[in-house]
Amino acid sequence: MRMRKKKWAEPYLEAHPELVLADPSVYKGKWKELLQCDVLHVEIGMGKGGYIAAMAEQYPEEGWIGIERDRSAAAVAARHIIDQGISRQHLKLIAIEAENMEEWFAPQEIDIIHLNFSDPWPKKKTHKRRLSSERFLGIYRKVLNENGEVRMKTDNKDLFEDSVTCFSNDGWIFDTFSVDYRRIEHPEDAITEYEAKFMEAGQPIYRFTAVKERRAKIRE
Ligand code: SAH
Repeated sequence: MRMRKKKWAEPYLEAHPELVLADPSVYKGKWKELLQCDVLHVEIGMGKGGYIAAMAEQYPEEGWIGIERDRSAAAVAARHIIDQGISRQHLKLIAIEAENMEEWFAPQEIDIIHLNFSDPWPKKKTHKRRLSSERFLGIYRKVLNENGEVRMKTDNKDLFEDSVTCFSNDGWIFDTFSVDYRRIEHPEDAITEYEAKFMEAGQPIYRFTAVKERRAKIRE
């Protein structure tokens, strides 16, 4: 999401350090302690934060971290969380590019990574920037715990197919798979801002969940 720059964004982000963490590397290895949870979720590319806010409300016993590199979008997310009075004890935001996330999370620290309507980067030359590209899968594999999983949703068939191939080539196992996810109601999973738009337009939502393990066992 590239939003028009909001003048209030920087001062707002800085004014709420208890929600928007300026230096996430401080918490490396200590996130579950900080958020007082057993299950740690991380959404990469949370946009305006509708999903992470709704999920944090629905599952307050779990820990939620939203990452977004667009500082204006992250500020909109922060304001939404604060204005709605959503508890910030188990919900934190990081308004920084995610490719550095290995500096913030210890090996095996995360349980679930959410990729919602990630940028498709349609040109072949830019595929490596995709959040489901080989480079990122290598990072996810390290920071996810043994049973860790990635949950991905998108409207983009090309991105979906390419992601399935990337995950598959990297040895991940698909747990669930849908090419029309919202045909059935899923009250357990919040609808993102982008998702709402595509649903309104009648477009199918593609989704999979993939786990990194069992790979070793299969190859034994
Ligand atoms: N998840 C939201 C927004 C989707 S748009 C929704 O479903 O409504 C994708 C978002 O991912 C954009 O806001 C973009 O800035 C962010 N993004 C893409 N690559 C990123 C990266 N490497 N690090 C952090 N954020 C990223």
